[in-house]
Amino acid sequence: MTSSSPPRGPVVGIDLGGTDIKAALVAADGTVVHSIRRATHREHGPQAVVEAVADTAAAVVAENDERTGQPLLGVGVVVPGLVDESAGVAAYSANLGWRDLPLRDLLGERLGLPVVLGHDVRAGAVAESRLGAGRGHDDFVFVALGTGIAAAHVRGGQVLRGHHYAAGELGHLVVSRTGPRCGCGRRGCLEVLASASAIARRYHRAVRPRDRDAKGASAEQVCRLAVAGDPVARRVWATAVAALADGLAAYTVLCDPGLIVLGGGVARAGATLTDPLRSALATGLAIADPPEVAIAQLGTQAGCRGAALLAFDRVAAGVAAFAAQSGVAR
Ligand SMILES: [Zn+2]
Repeated sequence: MTSSSPPRGPVVGIDLGGTDIKAALVAADGTVVHSIRRATHREHGPQAVVEAVADTAAAVVAENDERTGQPLLGVGVVVPGLVDESAGVAAYSANLGWRDLPLRDLLGERLGLPVVLGHDVRAGAVAESRLGAGRGHDDFVFVALGTGIAAAHVRGGQVLRGHHYAAGELGHLVVSRTGPRCGCGRRGCLEVLASASAIARRYHRAVRPRDRDAKGASAEQVCRLAVAGDPVARRVWATAVAALADGLAAYTVLCDPGLIVLGGGVARAGATLTDPLRSALATGLAIADPPEVAIAQLGTQAGCRGAALLAFDRVAAGVAAFAAQSGVAR
């Protein structure tokens, strides 16, 4: 088999997030034939997360024979934080609590399949670029607004990774020096004001300040309450949007994207998010033209679909190289 005639077959794409793990069995033609979602269990520590992702992958792999009848070619896994894609190492995640975890080889050994490891938001950007809102755009930034916040810039079909694989850590851009403390140790990062977890937490603390452990409304519910006129929800939502506008304005001044694609759970707010952001960018950028703002078309599936694309790309580049890099003798 040569790289000019890669084998055709299904792959598994897995998106490991701070809250849940999304996994999809994707056929050779790109159709998602089966998908599942499970809890990440990050509260039980990094080892439990590795077990959870391995179990989720194994559950989807087990479905393959019946659903496609073709040999599975490999598994793409994408994770948040800092990821050394060439070494297959999850270098750091504040949300998942790991450092220098050789996740690609751990999963390859467990599954007995070639595994490719990638960064969740960069993979989501690739998926939006080829399958979603970024199609036809040569220069855009994908911003994932989930448990955390991160961005990935696609230019000429390539995703910018940065010298230390750390490009696009927009969630840790300081937008308010007197703001709340972030997981990274600093105050007023965009992530502690505008992520889904921040919106939910800030609303909950405002309405039930003496009951910090009780489960409160989700960011999506806070958005709905804001639209319905709830004054506390309106304040929390407005703070999040203003912080996001400041962060995106700073990003635009530096990188001048033609389009900002908003993904992740917070982007389900749709026009309640994009309308005020467009206004803020139109008035807040003194010297730059504002970029277009759009909602991601793949929704919360972007990371998962991007993980599958990573695996397909690796297959296309040569199965032998894929297997060798996975550390699995096959
Ligand atoms: Zn931070």
